Amino acid sequence: MDGDLIYVIYGDRPKKMVRRILEHVDIAKDIPSKDSLVGIKPNLVVAKPAEQGATTSPELVEGVIEYLRDNGFHNIIILEGSWLGDRTSRAFQVCGYEGLSNRYNIPLIDLQRDGYMYYQVEDMKISLCNRAMDVDYMINMPVLKGHCQTRITCALKNMKGCIPDREKRRFHTMGLHKPIAYMNKALEQDLIVVDGIIGDLNFEEGGNPVQMNRVILGKDPVLIDSYVAQLLGYDIEDIPYIGMAEDIGVGSSNLIDDNIVELNRDTAPMSIPKTRLIEDLTGYVEEDMACSACYGSLIHALDRLQDRGCLYGMEDKIHIGQGYEGKKGEGLGIGICTKGLERSLSGCPPRAKDIIDFLEKYYI
Ligand code: SF4
Repeated sequence: MDGDLIYVIYGDRPKKMVRRILEHVDIAKDIPSKDSLVGIKPNLVVAKPAEQGATTSPELVEGVIEYLRDNGFHNIIILEGSWLGDRTSRAFQVCGYEGLSNRYNIPLIDLQRDGYMYYQVEDMKISLCNRAMDVDYMINMPVLKGHCQTRITCALKNMKGCIPDREKRRFHTMGLHKPIAYMNKALEQDLIVVDGIIGDLNFEEGGNPVQMNRVILGKDPVLIDSYVAQLLGYDIEDIPYIGMAEDIGVGSSNLIDDNIVELNRDTAPMSIPKTRLIEDLTGYVEEDMACSACYGSLIHALDRLQDRGCLYGMEDKIHIGQGYEGKKGEGLGIGICTKGLERSLSGCPPRAKDIIDFLEKYYI
């Protein structure tokens, strides 16, 4: 698989979706040998089920395991070191990974209890957990979500679960961005499978889940994070660790639309309950049969605009959804379905960044 490609599949059935995308790309060809130690690194930052927007869906990981097994790879481990406020063992249990481990006989490696070694990266010494460094083929499975300090967290930041707890504390004293970028120079990831089914609006611990209904696959963590930044309504420059990682050769932020391969279209409606914050944001929206992928992008865009104080005084509603297909009229619409309206943003689904640029131009 070419490192400059990103694959996207939409839907709300993670196990089936990931299976289809892995088969499409034929990832088995990339893994060095049938005896390779394959490490799966989910995001289990806290002990909360995936529906709350913080952690990787066990169904998605199950799809990856079944694919690997069916292609003759049996040397598989799942590794994680939760954040300082939680125990990994509790996260494995609450997030459904103990059951997964028992069903498939796959070891769960608690990196909070692992040994570590120091690695020199440019001018920085970084300690990394030994079991993570032993892996021959690392599959990083982050969640597509916002973060209260770094704005987004995805491929690059998820590897922070592979450092000891005292190093996590030190990363925070250094402002996170530079150590996150440099850690990724020493700790390579071979494949990234992003859980974009449900991720949080703006907080790594969850609490305001947004249904984005997609799985994203790629090999370059810098490219994946550049794409994700725009999906969540940011410019690449808003996330300093992306540029820092690119500067030291971790990957490329050169996003080319033609290199984003979408395998299908989303049609599933929003099915998770809205929190108070999301209810407030959708007060600006007139929705009629909107797909979750589209609606989720709009929610992220509105939250970013609200943070900038741009939503006050907005009186007209924003139209979105398949119910507007073929309709003509005044007003503002998001997505190709609303192309008959006076002002409409194309895309199916559009990125939050494009929605922000569009609303700023015409509306705010
Ligand atoms: S543009 Fe229409 S069909 Fe496409 S994702 Fe949005 S609501 Fe769904």
